[in-house]
Amino acid sequence: MGERNKKILLELLQKPGNNICADCSSDNPEWASSNIGVFICVNCSGIHRMLGTHVSRVKSCRLDQWADDAVQMMCESGNDAVNAILERYIPVYYKKPSPSDPQVYKEHFIHAKYDRKEFETMGGTAHYETGTKTGKLWKRGKEDKQFKPRKFVLNTEEGTLKYYIKDDAKEPKQTIPLASLSATLAPEKINHPNGLQFAFKTDNLTRQIYVYADEGKDTGDWYITLRASAFNILRKTYPGIDTDVIMDRLNSHQGKEGWMMKTGPKHTEAYRRRWFTLEKRKLLYFANPLDAYPKGEIYLGSGTDGFMVRDGLPAGQNEQGFGITITTPERDYLLCCEDQEEQRSWIGEIKNIMTKPLTSQDTADLQDYKLTYQHRRKSTIRNNLTNPTGWR
Ligand SMILES: [Zn+2]
Repeated sequence: MGERNKKILLELLQKPGNNICADCSSDNPEWASSNIGVFICVNCSGIHRMLGTHVSRVKSCRLDQWADDAVQMMCESGNDAVNAILERYIPVYYKKPSPSDPQVYKEHFIHAKYDRKEFETMGGTAHYETGTKTGKLWKRGKEDKQFKPRKFVLNTEEGTLKYYIKDDAKEPKQTIPLASLSATLAPEKINHPNGLQFAFKTDNLTRQIYVYADEGKDTGDWYITLRASAFNILRKTYPGIDTDVIMDRLNSHQGKEGWMMKTGPKHTEAYRRRWFTLEKRKLLYFANPLDAYPKGEIYLGSGTDGFMVRDGLPAGQNEQGFGITITTPERDYLLCCEDQEEQRSWIGEIKNIMTKPLTSQDTADLQDYKLTYQHRRKSTIRNNLTNPTGWR
């Protein structure tokens, strides 16, 4: 009897829908929630256990004994049927986790889906869309690099996220414009499971802020609430804008990151190790990954406007590994990767951006960038008097 049930379960796992995890879509799940009727991966099965057996009863399809009625239940339900109910009202701004998403996000989603049943009925996610949120986040100091508690206040109506040094402070330490804010989950970067990264524009420069919440749920709540407010602001600012374009924008900041070597504008300067981050249509580079401000920004326009990326460096350049040349109307940027895989991956990501047409928001960003670039060029000339290597 046991062998027959196992055979049925393994056949069920081959069916479309059941062959990926019901929660994070990773391939070939081998676990299941026997009372809910979904097949899940080993990682998500660990999160299901945290829900408690009154919500989800976790079993291995291969290792555990299954009763006939439980197997019958799995036959009658399965991932597609259950998700059609429990994920029916996932809002557009909400991103279902992918296998590579941080654990804190998968936990947030699984609790929301099965325990709080936020996506089963219309309006179950309304609490992300109130447009306001106040709470404590630990923020990394720009100078002393220590994490300290700060009061953060979101006001979508006003279009701002502010933070205060003290709970009773009247004036905020900083006012972040929501229109340019990108929030990313960044546990690895700041070495905390609940890590979040906020990138935003201030004086035409991209500023980074690193924070974490005490609780994983709070981290997820901040992340989703900020996505919801960004979504609603974009929809209000650009009436009639395609939802795909908004989503592209919401997700585009979760771009590739990594070290590359870079030379200066004259191409004769020494190559320096820089941390690169793709942020919407910009490639930012930092001296260190957690710096508040980048050393510089490379705007990635459209191929039709003369932007190009190719492998290799111009003739006569000494390649420090695997070269990449980014051509912009202003200048060529010469970069080098440690291995060919990285080189291909960066070129692929950059090409992908350059083939996309510019949205109206992109065009506004480009104007800002040009202003900043002209300003920088002037200051470079000034700096050259005292600093012969120039700005980099
Ligand atoms: Zn999973």
